[in-house]
Amino acid sequence: NKQVFDFQEGNAGMKTLLGGKGAHLAEMTRAGLPVPPGFTISTEACLSYFKADNRMSDELQSEIVAALHRLETLKGQKFGNPADPLLVSVRSGSVTSMPGMMDTILNLGLNDETVEGLAAKTNNARFAYDCYRRLLQMFGNVVLDIGGHHFEKIVHRLKQEEGVSQDQDLTPDALLRLIADFKHCIQLQAGRPFPQDVREQLTLAVEAVFQSWNNSRAKIYRKINRIPDDQGTAVNIQSMVFGNRGQDCGTGVVFTRNPSTGATELFGEYLINAQGEDVVAGTRTPQPVASLSDEMPAVFEQLVRLAKQLEQHYRDMQDIEFTVEQGRLYILQTRNGKRNAQAAVTIAANLVKEGTIAKEDALQRIEVSHLDKLLHRGIDESVATEVFAIGLPASPGAAVGQVAFDADVAMEWSQAGKKVILARPETTPEDIQGVLVSEGIITSRGGMTSHAAVVARGMGKPCVCGCETIKIDEEQRQMSVGSRLVQEGDWITIDGASGRVIIGEVPLREAEITEELSELLEWADSIRKLKVRANADNPHDASVAKQFGAEGIGLCRTEHMFFSAERLPVVQRMILADDIEERHQALEQLLPMQQADFEAMLTNMDGHPVNIRLLDPPLHEFLPKEKELRKKLDDLDRAGGDNESEKKAVLSLIRKVQALEEVNPMLGQRGCRLGIVYPEIYDMQIEAIFRAASRCIDKGTKVTLEIMVPLVGHVNELAMLRERIDTIGERILGREILERGIYQVGTMIEVPRAALTAAQIAPIADFFSFGTNDLTQMTFGYSRDDAEGKFLSHYVDQKILPHNPFQVLDTEGVGLLIEWATTSGRSIKPNLKTGICGEHGGDKDSIFFCHRTGLDYVSCSPFRLPMARIAAAQAAI
Ligand code: ADP
Ligand code: MG
Ligand code: MG
Repeated sequence: NKQVFDFQEGNAGMKTLLGGKGAHLAEMTRAGLPVPPGFTISTEACLSYFKADNRMSDELQSEIVAALHRLETLKGQKFGNPADPLLVSVRSGSVTSMPGMMDTILNLGLNDETVEGLAAKTNNARFAYDCYRRLLQMFGNVVLDIGGHHFEKIVHRLKQEEGVSQDQDLTPDALLRLIADFKHCIQLQAGRPFPQDVREQLTLAVEAVFQSWNNSRAKIYRKINRIPDDQGTAVNIQSMVFGNRGQDCGTGVVFTRNPSTGATELFGEYLINAQGEDVVAGTRTPQPVASLSDEMPAVFEQLVRLAKQLEQHYRDMQDIEFTVEQGRLYILQTRNGKRNAQAAVTIAANLVKEGTIAKEDALQRIEVSHLDKLLHRGIDESVATEVFAIGLPASPGAAVGQVAFDADVAMEWSQAGKKVILARPETTPEDIQGVLVSEGIITSRGGMTSHAAVVARGMGKPCVCGCETIKIDEEQRQMSVGSRLVQEGDWITIDGASGRVIIGEVPLREAEITEELSELLEWADSIRKLKVRANADNPHDASVAKQFGAEGIGLCRTEHMFFSAERLPVVQRMILADDIEERHQALEQLLPMQQADFEAMLTNMDGHPVNIRLLDPPLHEFLPKEKELRKKLDDLDRAGGDNESEKKAVLSLIRKVQALEEVNPMLGQRGCRLGIVYPEIYDMQIEAIFRAASRCIDKGTKVTLEIMVPLVGHVNELAMLRERIDTIGERILGREILERGIYQVGTMIEVPRAALTAAQIAPIADFFSFGTNDLTQMTFGYSRDDAEGKFLSHYVDQKILPHNPFQVLDTEGVGLLIEWATTSGRSIKPNLKTGICGEHGGDKDSIFFCHRTGLDYVSCSPFRLPMARIAAAQAAI
């Protein structure tokens, strides 16, 4: 099997074999773009290398030699030739993009002899020595595993001695000393000299890139991004072009559209007289790409043209790395650019309007899990704020948290349940864990394409970069701007859209739906088959839901209406009533409250179905905890005096709480079981619902009502309650109205027995709503409230379960029950309405499952509706 491919031989379709970078270098070479020539060692070669206990086969070695010969011929230079040395970069290239995670070495082929040749040939000693010291550092770091700080310390010391602040101001003599110091450092740290044999350099470098696939930061990155461990990495060997050769040289990164806002404009940064990672390393703050049009107009024009060409070619926004050598532009990499949620939406919509892609493509490209973030957070601008610093708006969204100055502290605090903002001078891939657990990120150095910015955008986290006025003092654990100080642990707010860092906790405001998003949502609505509804427990949520496109309420949990300060005492009185008389009194007080809520919901939904679930949780949830009551008793005891009657009252309350206590409340007296044992409670709710409906009908509002009985396990439960519902409905609305069919009665399918006996239940149910929270709980036999904290995370870590089944629907088990219930229910009653409510209603995979199973709708929280609409469309494409 061929393991080495010249750039001319590959194409974009060969990503699995050549890695993303190699495949695209090949594709660009074919398209005639100015790409420095080179070749790619395949991922298969990497995997064979691992299989052979990290040894390169003879075949591979000779294929590399042959490819190198071809490259030498093409360039008219020879690798290791002191007179005119060919220099190459050795670049890793995984199949899935892992920005900054893998290692690259530049200027390979330099040694003590060839460096002089390069200096003579280019008549530029400063440049040649600059290349050599970079090679020594990268080679030392990547191949010989010497910590970067060893080299940085040496550079720092030298710059002080020389009295210069920037690397590029070092004289050739100073650079020569640097080279000597670096070589010394390598000998000291690695116990071996830097290899002067260029072939040895190449072999070692290729092996190091192979091995970088298994370094810890690459592994963590793969884990977070669910990239398989067995892909391996390709290695690209490419002839060098030099951005560090003088003032007519430079290097940069450009996005064909703005990755933060999605605006159609070239966006990026570059540095004059710099090489490779200088731009992304954040050590010098780069220039915005727009100023290239002044500094190098011809290059800028060409860059604009190539950017457009690449975007058309790949039909997506591109992230392009380029280098200019003596006024000539070279493209070193292109890939589909990472972007935040807002930009993703805007770009997708614009590409459709420009005729580049179809609506379906645009919808498929939306990462629904990012939309979630897009639909939240912004700073409430009506509140006065104390701006501490302004940096680059690197990833939008606002976040509030306590500032932490390193990843370890951030992780520790987040585990303790704190909200953290990570502040770093600049981030490196080692900080990734800290970024992951933080609400947002600040850096004092680095531009819009720095590591922190790229990673934050990928994760959809707010980020402000390059706050150069902020001095971070890691030792004193504080940061300052002038005389103003922020200590570690202080609260701050950041706004990644404007770049502001603000002292204190600023209230955040929910985001609105942009024009482009509503366009995409409309396209989604025209494609999807599933209807979307919202879970809304009060009139306010119902109106939010409508704004987000709800086609009805899929679940209104009436008990949530019981918890407000003025209602809870009434509810408690109802529960604690000594006799039926007293209970009726309390219920009579509750009735108008519930009725008013229902009326408002029905009015807000204006004819769309409103599904109201009768009381579900065990009654003790509405009562104070026994512990609290005991404490109150103790307090009364301690206070002494004449409070016997008060104590008696508390004692009797304790006895009632004890009487209601259950060992397994989730499997206890709740749902329809309550309704059957205490019919007066359900009767009140049913009456409130119908009275609300009646009022709405009188006002001329269209009413589509669904009354849902929870926790049915046996058909007789539903039969009994349905009869009560129908009776009360007829009493309140009268037969004439009922004949219009304004209401339906159905059940939640959340007890496995109900799913199994769906064919018996269907004749008396107008709809099934799958309550997947309880159904998951009861099918697995996991108590949801305990499992997540106790064993579930272990299960997921140890891959006993692929996901947390309370987040991602278990299609194989729980899903089977849903399929069975749907099919057998519909075989009895073909027009049986089916839907799903619960956490799963807003999860992409679960929505795909619902689509496949042929359910009628999904219901989720209002803010997840846009996600659900797009996911439902994706499922239908
Ligand atoms: P990464 O995957 O981390 O982006 P790359 O392989 O793209 O690493 O290399 C990093 C940078 O090194 C590139 O953006 C480019 O600036 C520079 N580079 C790589 N190869 C060459 C080359 N042949 N000539 C000039 N610069 C190069
Ligand atoms: Mg790159
Ligand atoms: Mg339930």
